[in-house]
Amino acid sequence: MAETLSSQQVVDITKQHNFGTWRRGKQWNPLHVVSGDGCWFTDANGKRYLDFSAQLMCVNLGYNNQAVIQSIQQQAAELAYIQPSYTTTARAELSQLLLEVLPKGLTKFFFCTSGTDANEAAFKVARMYTGKTKIIGRYRSYHGSTASSIGATGDARRWPSEPRSKLPGVVFSPEVNCYKCPLKHSYPECGIACADYLEYMIQNEGDVAAVLAETVVGTNGVLIPPPGYYQKLRRICDENNVLLIADEVMAGWGRTGKWFAIDHWGVQPDILTTAKGITSAYVPLGLMAVSEKISAFFEDNLFAHGHTYEAHPLTLGPAIATIREMQRLNLVERAVEVGAYLGEKLQALKAKHKSIGDVRGLGLFWAVELVKDQAKKTPFNVWQEKLDGKTLVVDQIAGKMIASGIFLQAWMNHFVIAPPLIVSKEEIDFALTALDEHLAIADQLVAG
Ligand code: PMP
Repeated sequence: MAETLSSQQVVDITKQHNFGTWRRGKQWNPLHVVSGDGCWFTDANGKRYLDFSAQLMCVNLGYNNQAVIQSIQQQAAELAYIQPSYTTTARAELSQLLLEVLPKGLTKFFFCTSGTDANEAAFKVARMYTGKTKIIGRYRSYHGSTASSIGATGDARRWPSEPRSKLPGVVFSPEVNCYKCPLKHSYPECGIACADYLEYMIQNEGDVAAVLAETVVGTNGVLIPPPGYYQKLRRICDENNVLLIADEVMAGWGRTGKWFAIDHWGVQPDILTTAKGITSAYVPLGLMAVSEKISAFFEDNLFAHGHTYEAHPLTLGPAIATIREMQRLNLVERAVEVGAYLGEKLQALKAKHKSIGDVRGLGLFWAVELVKDQAKKTPFNVWQEKLDGKTLVVDQIAGKMIASGIFLQAWMNHFVIAPPLIVSKEEIDFALTALDEHLAIADQLVAG
């Protein structure tokens, strides 16, 4: 048995022997976290932090949920692993439960270990099913970190050393962003021109297997398409014989106030990918769900894909427990009610701070976007600052928030506010009082 490590040793050894995600080694000073309960986690010095972004927008049930913990313990005691061509009771039960909560018509499932894996599977399935190769992604998007999924991810998340010429088989479309429309239109006069543009792309590119959309774009700024967008996109896909893949890795599982974000528009995707909230991140599970017609196709065609850890027994029981907990605690309805409160408070912050360009969200999924100039919507020049190794304005504010005992996810020019779905109004007030104070850092940099 090794000697107990001091907290400083834990941090030092981690830094010396591990990579810091999206960080330079020298800039990485990981917090040593020892426990969590409800919406709070605790560091090795006993300091508590309110988690205002559910970590990576995934700990939807909060920490220390006993039902999920027991399900992990029970499955570990019964059967920790069996290869995926065999089956388990949890696998069948989870499949039944998914039929209750997923958008109607998605009936066949592939269980993997992350959102990245789910998207990789979706691309392959789309290509196998259609016999076509191209996937249309969006410039502002994130779909994962391995070759295909980063290849389908927009430039904002692709490091300059990734192929800039795009991977073969992926083409990009403008993001759907009504705050700063890349086509310089405004809704509703535009008639949803971004969807028309996609149709134009599909027809002129040729060989398009699927359109890939984060239903609500997550890390890249909680971009919510306007009413009618998904209905129009669905029609365009159908008319052009192209599949629609909804990436709900972040936006799924009650986050937006519906079980899945696509439910806001009543549209059925052909393929839905998800992860994160499916187990509230207690164990790593990803899911690809496909429609009846795709399911039928694989009755006679080889499903040429799989993983050692596919349908891993330890991950499936906790997903069942997570869904049941969400149902027991009415968390989807709660996200609507508490989310409305959060939204009102954030709009009030916007009215007060000249550095806030936009506040937008659905349910308990919100972005606060900072600008140098509100009228011109000028962003801070974050890519250059990141490449120069400077601390971005959002990171400076997030640093102050952590010192005040609040964790807030910052990315480029915005914060992603997505607390666990069990968050209380008092906790929201606590976090926003601190944000109100620390936004002074950005306000000072604003012109005028
Ligand atoms: N898609 C989206 C929309 C995501 O937000 C993420 C992760 N942030 C992924 C895919 C990749 O998921 P993972 O990190 O589990 O591989």
